[in-house]
Amino acid sequence: MTAAAPTGISYRLPQERRLVTELPGPASRALATRRARAVAAGLGSSVPVYAADADGGVIVDVDGNSLIDLGSGIAVTSVGASEPRVAAAVAEQVRHFTHTCFMVTPYEGYVAVAEALNELTPGDHEKRSVLFNSGAEAVENAVKVARLATGREAVIAFDNAYHGRTNLTMALTAKRMPYKADFGPFAPEIYRMPMSYPFRDEPGMTGEQAAARVISAMEVQVGAEEIAAILIEPIQGEGGFIVPAPGFLAALSAWAKDNGVVFIADEVQTGFARTGSWFACEHEGIVPDIITMAKGIAGGLPLSAITGRAELLDAVHPGGLGGTYGGNPVACAAALAAFETMKVYDLPGRAAHIGEVAFTRLRDAAQRIPAIGEVRGRGAMIAVELVTPGTTTPDPALAKTIAARALEQGVIVLICGTYGNVVRLLPPLVIGDDTLNDGLDVFIAAIEEGANA
Ligand SMILES: *Cc1c(COP(=O)(O)O)cnc(C)c1O
Repeated sequence: MTAAAPTGISYRLPQERRLVTELPGPASRALATRRARAVAAGLGSSVPVYAADADGGVIVDVDGNSLIDLGSGIAVTSVGASEPRVAAAVAEQVRHFTHTCFMVTPYEGYVAVAEALNELTPGDHEKRSVLFNSGAEAVENAVKVARLATGREAVIAFDNAYHGRTNLTMALTAKRMPYKADFGPFAPEIYRMPMSYPFRDEPGMTGEQAAARVISAMEVQVGAEEIAAILIEPIQGEGGFIVPAPGFLAALSAWAKDNGVVFIADEVQTGFARTGSWFACEHEGIVPDIITMAKGIAGGLPLSAITGRAELLDAVHPGGLGGTYGGNPVACAAALAAFETMKVYDLPGRAAHIGEVAFTRLRDAAQRIPAIGEVRGRGAMIAVELVTPGTTTPDPALAKTIAARALEQGVIVLICGTYGNVVRLLPPLVIGDDTLNDGLDVFIAAIEEGANA
């Protein structure tokens, strides 16, 4: 539709930022009132507007406001929130069957998704896949497989890690508030190690040095022969889009291999074209033993997966893995359509392009805004860490102000970070350049105004 749309993409909704009411508008406020009486208070929402429609780079709310979406529902709608191929595949599948349970009456879609994942994930070794519903469930199952296959119990997780909200994944997640506070007791045999966090590590610390710090701690505190798995996000998501120093992941992966430890890459957030390649591990030449996937996998439908070495996955006794809904046929149809869309539009290339546009503009902004401690990320996983100027002291209040100002102007951005001081951008990969640049104009102005307020 617009000249700056990625090749071949056309949009159903106008790709515009258009505010016709105050935010939230009257219809959203009415829904908020109903929600308060019906929905448990423990659920938060970053944005107080209720969605009515979404396409490409925009979300239209129930009051008719058109907002630029730089969040993708947390890196989920990478192919768009109503991608025509996904919509058609879902409609076709529900006309035939919505569910049979793969553990009762299996179907081709599940097998086809497993074949595709075995093909798309890093490494050309023999692989097997299993499908589930959520990222947390994928992580839980990766740990189950690693423990069974190694006969060991300990799992290594990292500072700033986020792996989910179930009991095991809460234990694997680092941040107490809001994810863990008062929800214990937590699963045992989890050992937390220091992450490579270049902005906060001693200046000049290399990836190899940061890995040596971890390896020494693992050997001294846990013992290699006790460790089933090292579980790590190749770029940490909720923790603050932390990109480890080059060499960190490779050194840990090599140590895992030498010590019979399963190296699990949690690519729930970084997977499926988001970082400019199909998986973030590829940037570092890492081949994980097991990879966990969810978020961007199925154009918005709930689906998750683990893919790993055949000898690990096939070690599990029949019936040891599964779940009623895992690999639901509608979600599988959506995933296959989403993979095709990613290929047809070269969304890995598109993510790299989005990163080039955004990083150039944000690094330029960082030159004149000292509250920007660091601009980082990869591809369309873009973050700004906010600090007290001249220090590394986190400024979470500024992050909140920026997100609120951006929203007032019709742009959705998300906050993350161990200290709550990181604003992240995760645009749908099908967003057009005009829409992206308009969103960045608003975001950068919000940082500037917030920092000077
Ligand atoms: C979101 C996320 C999870 C949890 O996924 P859910 O689908 O919310 O359970 C796990 N790991 C990472 C890296 C994530 O970003």
